[in-house]
Amino acid sequence: MPETGPATGGERTREPEAPDAGRASGSGALPETVRGLGVSPGRAAGPAHRMAGPPVLPPPGPPGDPARETALVARALSEVAGHLERRAAETARPDARAILEAQSLMAGDPALLESAKEAVRSGLPAAHALDAACGHHRDALLAAGGYIADRAGDLDDVRNRAVAAVLGLPVPGVPEPGHPFVLVAGDLAPADTAGLDPATVLALVTEKGGPTSHTAILARALGLPAVVACRGAGDIADGALVVVDGESGEVEVGVTEEAAEEVRRRAAARHAPGAGGSGPGRTADGHPVALLLNIGSARDLRAGAGPAEAEGVGLFRTEFLFLGRRDAPSFEEQVAAYTAVLAAMPGRRVVLRTLDAGSDKPLPFLRLPAEANPALGVRGVRTGRLRPDVLDTQLDAIAAAAGESGAEAWVMAPMVGTAREAAAFARRARDRGLRRVGVMVEVPAAALHARRLLAEVDFLSIGTNDLGQYAFAADRQHGELADLLDPWQPALLHLIAMCARAGQEAGKPVGVCGEAAADPLLATVLAGLGIGGLSMAAASLPGVRAELARRTLAECQENARLALAAEGPGEARAIVAARAR
Ligand code: PEP
Ligand code: MG
Repeated sequence: MPETGPATGGERTREPEAPDAGRASGSGALPETVRGLGVSPGRAAGPAHRMAGPPVLPPPGPPGDPARETALVARALSEVAGHLERRAAETARPDARAILEAQSLMAGDPALLESAKEAVRSGLPAAHALDAACGHHRDALLAAGGYIADRAGDLDDVRNRAVAAVLGLPVPGVPEPGHPFVLVAGDLAPADTAGLDPATVLALVTEKGGPTSHTAILARALGLPAVVACRGAGDIADGALVVVDGESGEVEVGVTEEAAEEVRRRAAARHAPGAGGSGPGRTADGHPVALLLNIGSARDLRAGAGPAEAEGVGLFRTEFLFLGRRDAPSFEEQVAAYTAVLAAMPGRRVVLRTLDAGSDKPLPFLRLPAEANPALGVRGVRTGRLRPDVLDTQLDAIAAAAGESGAEAWVMAPMVGTAREAAAFARRARDRGLRRVGVMVEVPAAALHARRLLAEVDFLSIGTNDLGQYAFAADRQHGELADLLDPWQPALLHLIAMCARAGQEAGKPVGVCGEAAADPLLATVLAGLGIGGLSMAAASLPGVRAELARRTLAECQENARLALAAEGPGEARAIVAARAR
């Protein structure tokens, strides 16, 4: 039987005539449902606001009144400068503040205004004049090279904002409606999502993206319901009241205020402190499975169910601190960032992953050469080949932060492929006094040689997002390939089983920190395979804890046997789900 993947959006249905609890009052219109992949659990309700793309210039018409066009240009640049300055003053993040201030200065630069006026004098209307002036200054920045050239992207943003202002189009980027909202977008880059505020953004809906894309990961980290690969998202009107179900992947559009209020009430009850239980993870017969958190910064420990309910941090994605930066973070800055996390976890394990840069997480300050195929290029631990200084500074900072923290600092490297790479990393980390050193298993070669890796390091952590991507040669951001990226794929489970067996033989911990760990039923399979720790976003922890507590170790082992033997991911999931019922 052919394997079928989950539906990847594009479906639009009218709800049945009755019941009409969600009917938009007065209008008589029924809510419409668009569907995608639910990738971060929970339900949220609120008005939808779209992330606008860059404005498209209309064909230039006949020359307008130069005085009027000049005034439009001047007003747009001054508005943009003022807006960026206000945002710089409001943000709590020093890195974001520096960028916003620099952009505000660019927008207010008299030389830019003069170039735009010049373009108006040559006969261009305001929007085209701004485009030409920014293009001219952009070329100059690129020609200067190095650090200056990196600012071209900031100028593009100024250009987009100013052109949109002249054309009366929505401001590009994450919207700022001034109240909580559901963010709807074509796609979200890590840089877009890194600064999202969970107090304002209620849920995410994107047209693109897959189950292990960074939109999905960030949504889970922030505890935001999210639906990706939702083709109908493009038709959701700005301001429409929507209900997002991050499990079923359904987005109801045009619901009533009463229906939205009911969703909000239930979400508040679910997030009440202690609602998800606490204490170490255990199967029904007491077999321990450590339940740990995936985080990108100390902020994630404050936002979610967090520290009280987990046994530690299983994956601290340190690169999230440095996305969008122009300069390498200093030693002191890193010590402060790591200390903030370690200090929140006294007596508990915190696994810090060294910078996982490259491919879908570009870090411009590394200045790596352009690559034709970045997913197969210099990324993860391999960046240490070209920039050993960056890895050394990071390990120094981790060692300094670990020293007095009271937490157990574990350190691991991403994208390790060989035992030799593992040994080299372990040496560098141990030379600095770091005692628990491990590596991630994210490429099939590492799983095949799990035993050899464990001869060099103290633990393995399996990154199923990348392991799935590389085992199936399927881009993890690709919504259409979601069936291949399904963590229930038996071949992926076989690779995990190899690692678990190697861990048991060596008497060393092997955990899973990819998104597979966040699926409650799959968690029973992983425990049955011999995985000793599961690391996930805080929002997923209660469901995984509850499912493990319902099964004995023998039942988990039987689930593992059945899933490994299944023909495909759908079958594996169905068999285990049927047993659970
Ligand atoms: C993974 O690949 O499973 C993983 C945990 O790393 P990331 O998602 O950050 O690439
Ligand atoms: Mg990875």
